[in-house]
Amino acid sequence: MICPRCDTDKVELLTKSPVGNAWEMYICNTCTYSWRSTETPDKTDPKRYNAKFKIKPESIPNMLVIPPVPPLKA
Ligand SMILES: [Zn+2]
Repeated sequence: MICPRCDTDKVELLTKSPVGNAWEMYICNTCTYSWRSTETPDKTDPKRYNAKFKIKPESIPNMLVIPPVPPLKA
């Protein structure tokens, strides 16, 4: 399976629906995008995923990190 966001094949099954085998959930080990099998193709299909939100795996190490929460004032 190919990740819709970064187009790598490092995708694994995250979990399945607890009842009725209704859906599976997948996660990409490269960019951590996750999705449920029942979501629309613009969220699950690499060819239909919005190109604006695609990620190049080689750019991930250079992305900004979320600023840490400063210590609480006493
Ligand atoms: Zn990915």
